Amino acid sequence: MRKFLIASNNAHKVEEINRILNPLGINAFRAKDLGIDLGDVEETGTTFAENAELKAVAGFKKSGLPTVADDSGLMVDALDGRPGVYSARYAGENATDADRYTKLLGELKDVPAEKRTARFVSSICCVLEDGSMIKVEGTSEGRIGFEPRGSSGFGYDPVFISQSGKTFAELTAEEKDAVSHRGKALEKLEAALRGKNDNR
Ligand code: IMP
Repeated sequence: MRKFLIASNNAHKVEEINRILNPLGINAFRAKDLGIDLGDVEETGTTFAENAELKAVAGFKKSGLPTVADDSGLMVDALDGRPGVYSARYAGENATDADRYTKLLGELKDVPAEKRTARFVSSICCVLEDGSMIKVEGTSEGRIGFEPRGSSGFGYDPVFISQSGKTFAELTAEEKDAVSHRGKALEKLEAALRGKNDNR
């Protein structure tokens, strides 16, 4: 198995990423599982792609291992694309997922159903052994509900109504992977990694 670093501590992301990479003969580990201290990588980018690259390059430099990083978030049309790259920090540093989606529902309280369109975006950057990079992005369209529904997933999942009419938190992990932003980005990463393997 090839050993990769995942520059994320989010257990959900690590699980989703490994589900795709394992069949390619890749095992991805969090820094803390490898005894590496990544420190805090400042997400100073203005786009998901910039932040994913910052995290992947920092992880590669610290570990010397091929590194994969995801930067993702929710873009709400009625809020001109906010919270966007600030999705994780939207309700302050120590806020919970519920604090964040409750704040979002509050900001949207006077916005009618047809204007509540939104999308999740996931940008993934993978730095390989030779320093070359693969960059992919996936999006998933939906709208913001009026109250939270469902208990699976994480983050804004309970208020994000996907095209099935169910919130992401009402889908199983497999159902979410099949339509989610990260699932789509990972499919593209998988294809790119398979292409590289075939050329070796
Ligand atoms: P990041 O770790 O800086 O990429 O922050 C991403 C943030 O966006 C997370 O903390 C979540 O709040 C939100 N987010 C990203 N992907 C998802 C998802 O699949 N479901 C729900 N929320 C998500």
